[in-house]
Amino acid sequence: MQINEAFATEIKKVLGDGRVMFHEPMKAHTTFRIGGPADCLIFPSSMEEVRQVFALLDRYEIPYTILGNGSNVLVRDKGVRGAIVKFNSPFSDIRLEEGTRIVAGAGASLKDVSVFAAEHGLTGMEFAVGIPGSLGGAVFMNAGAYDGEMRNVVAKVRSVAPDGSMHEFQAAELELGYRHSIFQTNGHAICEVELKLVSGEGSTIRMKMDDLTRRREERQPLEMPSAGSTFKRPTGYFAGTLIDQTGLKGLKVGGAQVSEKHAGFVVNTGDATAEDVLGLISEVQRRVFEMHGVKLYPEVRIIGEE
Ligand SMILES: Cc1cc2nc3c(=O)[nH]c(=O)nc-3n(C[C@H](O)[C@H](O)[C@H](O)COP(=O)(O)OP(=O)(O)OC[C@H]3O[C@@H](n4cnc5c(N)ncnc54)[C@H](O)[C@@H]3O)c2cc1C
Repeated sequence: MQINEAFATEIKKVLGDGRVMFHEPMKAHTTFRIGGPADCLIFPSSMEEVRQVFALLDRYEIPYTILGNGSNVLVRDKGVRGAIVKFNSPFSDIRLEEGTRIVAGAGASLKDVSVFAAEHGLTGMEFAVGIPGSLGGAVFMNAGAYDGEMRNVVAKVRSVAPDGSMHEFQAAELELGYRHSIFQTNGHAICEVELKLVSGEGSTIRMKMDDLTRRREERQPLEMPSAGSTFKRPTGYFAGTLIDQTGLKGLKVGGAQVSEKHAGFVVNTGDATAEDVLGLISEVQRRVFEMHGVKLYPEVRIIGEE
């Protein structure tokens, strides 16, 4: 069903005017700076609100997509029909529990969580300081970098299922694997995450975070919009190395380009469309397969109307 006046009135009653937007260009909400309009963009701030939002979407038969910070997505040019339920700043409380546990809202940024951990002398989240995602998105993707991944630190996750029921998952139930979690199949909205960290030395933690930040700045095209690594790591290879060896650094389709700095990244040179990025992805897949016989699969999640 389409978004109509009655739904607009009711959703504003749940969230207030400031946390609902209509016909909102998604290029303003993704790190790729690409994407057509979402019919409706909703920013919940609590599990109870998520439950109410889901009930309303269900009643009006409006399809929805969940988003965190939009740092691992490509939104198509026609945009997203229905609603996007976006987890960011309104859902980003971070608190310390039992000395070594951090409980945070799914919308908290990984950077803020890592810094909070360092400030409390807790080690384990240093790897995440430069990943520009939300905590919920990081659990969904089992984000990882250098010597760490979410799997090593997540203790519990509280979520809301599409039918509005609330759930709590223990770490062992999350099916965390390479860029995979149970949330990729069950459709739940991750709302709150509990991390189990270890006491450490504040200055050592800080030094490691600074070192990882420096390494990232040296190697990754952080000055240009992107969604990070475009492709998953094929078993036994590195996507970036394969793309580089195929001679594709700098290859362009429209405004999308294989980064000159890191072949694993597709960057937006300024006016790229999703169509450009998809065209470039296909071309890279084709040429890498031709030269190396290896199939590359996107790590970036592609959403929106085809
Ligand atoms: C410059 C750059 C560097 C990067 N470096 C890394 C890296 O080193 N390692 C790495 O793993 N990734 C990296 N990424 C990719 C990205 O930051 C991670 O995948 C991150 O975890 C995505 O989080 P997000 O909040 O932006 O998720 P989004 O991009 O908003 O969403 C990604 C997926 O998660 C789902 N999702 C998001 N939030 C929720 C929620 N609360 N509940 C249920 N589902 C949800 C969405 O539906 C979507 O399918 C990088 C990206 C960029 C731009």
